[in-house]
Amino acid sequence: MNGWMAQPIYVGIDLGGTSIKTGVVDAFGRLVHVHERRTEADRGVEHVIAGMMEAARQAVRECGYDWNRVAGIGAGIPGFIDMRAGLVRLSPNLRWKDVPVRRLLEEAAGLPVQILNDANAAALGEALSGAGAGCDPVVCFTIGTGIGSGIIIGGRVFEGAHGMAAEAGHMRVVPDPEAVKCGCGQIGCLETVSSATGIVRMAREAVEHARMDNRGGRTKLADLPRPLTARDVFEAARDGDEVAGAIVDRAALYLGRALAAVAVLINPQRMIIGGGVSAAGEMLIDLIRGHFAREAPGLYRESVDIVAAALGNHAGVVGAAGIFRMGGGPIG
Ligand code: ZN
Repeated sequence: MNGWMAQPIYVGIDLGGTSIKTGVVDAFGRLVHVHERRTEADRGVEHVIAGMMEAARQAVRECGYDWNRVAGIGAGIPGFIDMRAGLVRLSPNLRWKDVPVRRLLEEAAGLPVQILNDANAAALGEALSGAGAGCDPVVCFTIGTGIGSGIIIGGRVFEGAHGMAAEAGHMRVVPDPEAVKCGCGQIGCLETVSSATGIVRMAREAVEHARMDNRGGRTKLADLPRPLTARDVFEAARDGDEVAGAIVDRAALYLGRALAAVAVLINPQRMIIGGGVSAAGEMLIDLIRGHFAREAPGLYRESVDIVAAALGNHAGVVGAAGIFRMGGGPIG
């Protein structure tokens, strides 16, 4: 049955600071299997590269495919990635600088390899076979601990001159009097208010404020028996807690403002909100749509579609595999 007529398969890797997620995608774009293991980044580059290779081979073996059917391996990696050079320029998460990951993986795998920024991989996944399928251009924001984003034009990643395009988390959207410092060295970045980290920071400040006012009972966020999470804030907001509601609305305001800025620059057909925080669901998306409508000029309000991501936390592996399945490499 396999033999000469076997269809190619594709491996997509989502390399994170804590785990290596590896997916096998078939010729029809279906994600048939996902394998996950720990990154152990503290053990160095060679250990992580070997782990990625073992993960790829094991994922292919676990779904019963022959390794020689693999047409290529794509890997999404956090940080500044030069796709054309196949180089990780800087990855603070992994503590890597100028690592030639494509060459190292190609030597280990004996197969073509492409690497790209992890948020670009997620955006490509959503654009090729998720919430952005059939739309062009597609912009995707991935909201988790930080905020990543990707711009997909004609089914390809727009990575800019140095692989540094689409860093929406570092758009400076918060007015100076309210701005706090970002990990990038600037102040007032989108990531400081609308990421899970930003939401938790605002919630802690609100709780502290409520305590100093001696009115701690006004928000149920003050009564949690454990450290606050972004999920707590969304749940409290959904239950009608006004303090939590104001925090979620503020996160949505700056997302709406950033999306409006991107919309006037790119004129995307669809804008997608993904990542852990987007699991908060339609409440967040509705608030973002409302703020976008107030921040964007009229014509954009009617023509841009803002939707939730469809692939959940598999967008990265689907997108990384999609580079070979659909030819979604860098523009130019
Ligand atoms: Zn920043």
